[in-house]
Amino acid sequence: MNIDKYEDAIMNCRFCFMCRHLSAIGNVRFTEVDTPRIRAAMLYGLRTGTNSFDDEDFVDALYRQDLSACCARHCVNHYDENGLALAARADVVEAGKAPAAVKRLAAKFVKSAAWKASGNGKVALFLDETTASDKAETAALRKLMKNAAGDYVTVTGGSIGKALKVLGYVPEAKDAAAKFAQFLNGLDVSAVVVPNPAAFDALKNDYPAWGLKLKAKVFCTAGFLLDRKVRFSKSAGELYYLADDFMRNYCGCECPERLLAALKAKNKPFGTNDEETYNCGEGAVVLDRLHPEIVKSLAEYVAARADDPKKDRIVTLGVYAKMALVKYGKLDVKTLNEIAASCL
Ligand code: SF4
Repeated sequence: MNIDKYEDAIMNCRFCFMCRHLSAIGNVRFTEVDTPRIRAAMLYGLRTGTNSFDDEDFVDALYRQDLSACCARHCVNHYDENGLALAARADVVEAGKAPAAVKRLAAKFVKSAAWKASGNGKVALFLDETTASDKAETAALRKLMKNAAGDYVTVTGGSIGKALKVLGYVPEAKDAAAKFAQFLNGLDVSAVVVPNPAAFDALKNDYPAWGLKLKAKVFCTAGFLLDRKVRFSKSAGELYYLADDFMRNYCGCECPERLLAALKAKNKPFGTNDEETYNCGEGAVVLDRLHPEIVKSLAEYVAARADDPKKDRIVTLGVYAKMALVKYGKLDVKTLNEIAASCL
């Protein structure tokens, strides 16, 4: 089974409650089942035969996780409970036990794996469906790219494999990824800029792990602006940047923080600690489609921690978290790209 690769996490997390406070969904549902300890205990039970994927509650719990990787990051031994959760989903799918809603979503993503390119230049900007749906974000990106790259190619389209991987459909994810890699390699570009943190993680980490090579260098937007030494004439002022789960916990990328420094932002600490996630399930990529009620609770949890919910300028890296915090948290949220574009 895929979970066998995470022996350390199964054997140790099942007796440990040290990172329970970083379980975002456990924090809003007040449920032990939504913590690494109980998930590991349930998966241990799967191996000993006392638990089974025939139990729908068990499978539902596996698909009800924020996948922020905060617990693995702050674990003293860095046991990869996040990787274990993803592996468990792959085992659920291989066993043919995926919930109907998950199957329907996966089928949509398989079908959507097609892209088109417009414009000319040696740099490509990839606008996934979520990023492309936010007019303020795309306007900011146009401004930033014009300044940093001059002419550029815009790539739009559907699944590049990330959501499929997160849902446990690994062969289908690899297939979509291979097609996207071939598409990108067919463009005559030396760099690809990826504003969506999940898509950036896919190209940076998933693709190499699957043996897929890209000819172009992969940049997050902040990294590209820093690389091109874009000059900003205005400072960003006081704001609260919510550290991004993919950048901090999956990629170890500090480009957003370096860009905030370049923007002379006065970045105030948000909430009660800088360990937990405030991104409303960004790591789970499609949590808003599977469990909007949980995303609502996560956004309300974040709003309750704002110093002044009506006035605080809150900044996220990706559009997913921005949309959730605006819709459910009623907060004033902009992306880092919007802030950067306003400082040009
Ligand atoms: S990830 Fe680390 S801290 Fe969290 S439950 Fe597992 S062993 Fe404990």
